[in-house]
Amino acid sequence: MTVSEDRWERRKGSRVFAPSARYRVCTQCIMDTSDPEITFDEAGVCHHCHDYARRVSAEVYPGVKGRQQLAKAVAQIKRDGEGKKYDCILGLSGGVDSTYVAYVTKQLGLRPLAVHLDNGWNSEISVRNIENIVTILGIDLHTEVLDWEEFRRLQVAFLRASTPDSEIPTDHAIISTLYKLAADQGIRWIMDGSNIVTEIMVPATWSHGHSDFGYIKHLNDTFGGAPLKTYPHYDYYDYMVRFPHRQRIERFPLLNYIDFNKMEAMEIMKKELKWTPYGGKHYESIYTRFYQGYILPKKFGFDKRRSHLSCLVNNGRITRDEALAEIQKPALSEEMEREDRVFVAKKLGLSDGEFDAIMNAERKTFWDYPSSERDLPGTKTYKNYIWQARFFGGDFFKSDLNRLGYYTKYYINRYAYFAKWWINRIAYFTWYYIKRYAYFTWYYIKRYAYFTWYYIKRIAYFAFHYTKRVAYFAWHATKRIAYYAAYYAGRIVSYGVAGVRRAGSLGYRAARKVYHLGRTLARYGWRAVTRPDRVVVRLASVLGIAR
Ligand SMILES: [Zn+2]
Repeated sequence: MTVSEDRWERRKGSRVFAPSARYRVCTQCIMDTSDPEITFDEAGVCHHCHDYARRVSAEVYPGVKGRQQLAKAVAQIKRDGEGKKYDCILGLSGGVDSTYVAYVTKQLGLRPLAVHLDNGWNSEISVRNIENIVTILGIDLHTEVLDWEEFRRLQVAFLRASTPDSEIPTDHAIISTLYKLAADQGIRWIMDGSNIVTEIMVPATWSHGHSDFGYIKHLNDTFGGAPLKTYPHYDYYDYMVRFPHRQRIERFPLLNYIDFNKMEAMEIMKKELKWTPYGGKHYESIYTRFYQGYILPKKFGFDKRRSHLSCLVNNGRITRDEALAEIQKPALSEEMEREDRVFVAKKLGLSDGEFDAIMNAERKTFWDYPSSERDLPGTKTYKNYIWQARFFGGDFFKSDLNRLGYYTKYYINRYAYFAKWWINRIAYFTWYYIKRYAYFTWYYIKRYAYFTWYYIKRIAYFAFHYTKRVAYFAWHATKRIAYYAAYYAGRIVSYGVAGVRRAGSLGYRAARKVYHLGRTLARYGWRAVTRPDRVVVRLASVLGIAR
């Protein structure tokens, strides 16, 4: 089993709706374990609260920054709309968010085309609200009316499939209609009513597969009884490649760029657009009201008010206690519950028994059924399909041809895209490295030339320097040796002369002494005989012994 197969195994109905003893509610908002994938940190704050903080700081631009960004975007939208009838397109359900988007779009001086999807479930108030809005604001309205019989079968198919995704047929059709009209009219911008401040805390497990036509088609073919013919749809290829890249249609989440306060927005709308409130988020449609107020909470334990109120808590509009008090109130009054149940069952062509069977059926999720997202080529279920297609004809084969067609288209586009990407990349790097090597070659040539010249200069300098130095020392040493030679020669001569002179002088003085002694002896010799005492005295005097 691959990793992705394991991921969907964990998300199948049997796991998601398995009875669990533990109940836990976030300490910051009121999200609880009715989201089977909720996680809490040590302080008991749920992951939705962390996501909320992260995404609000990253994707919501309030105040001055928001106004600047918005002004820039509006200028761009106006430029893109030049020469066309409309600058942008917007979905108009008649609910708070979409109505306020229409109002703000008009205030910004843009020329929108409003699109309303009539799926047969509009409440009278919403019809009146939409009429008022487009008349007062002077907006062109396109109403896309779905083939009721086909749409009814699709809705029943989703209910019988027993997944919490029964809003998908409507949501998918409105998105599809918006993109197709935008493409037809050459409109580049979709003003988007979805917003982070009030909508993002809806758990992924509460509904999945809005863009997955493979899923929608499978449920219709399995539980609906007749194929889809006119239902507006798109597939992943359209959503990820054709709309954004081929047709270059962009969605602009307008409400993320203004200080969106739902209460204030409703007051403005009541006053200026003669708008009448519905008493609940998305209750402009009777089906939505009943689905969110009855089927989802009663059958699946999902109460969308919980995520909506949690957003308001995180946004500081209400306190957690107020939200907890609000969620205790029933979503629908008992009377309305009864009326709606009868009305919805009758309109969908379901008997009381059939409706009860739907309410009591085993709960499933998106991951229990084949879909474009789940059954990618290479997975086990996809291989099963191919295997069945080989041995059986009919529906299996036809649906497989469709699937193969879809995947072929998807992968051809995908590979074409990657091929283009790699070619671009390789071309870029080739050019980059050519440039780089050329640069380095030139750089090293320059550098070697410089060093060569430098070392030549340096060697020449040192050669010269040492030659000079050696010559100098040689000369110096020669001079010094000559000087010392001369000096010592002079000294030897000088000492020699002095010695000779001294010896001569000593000899002379000795000779004189001898001579004097001789003379004295000769002169006084005879006296020695007569006066020896005087002789002795004299002799002593001559010899310098005594006077
Ligand atoms: Zn929380």
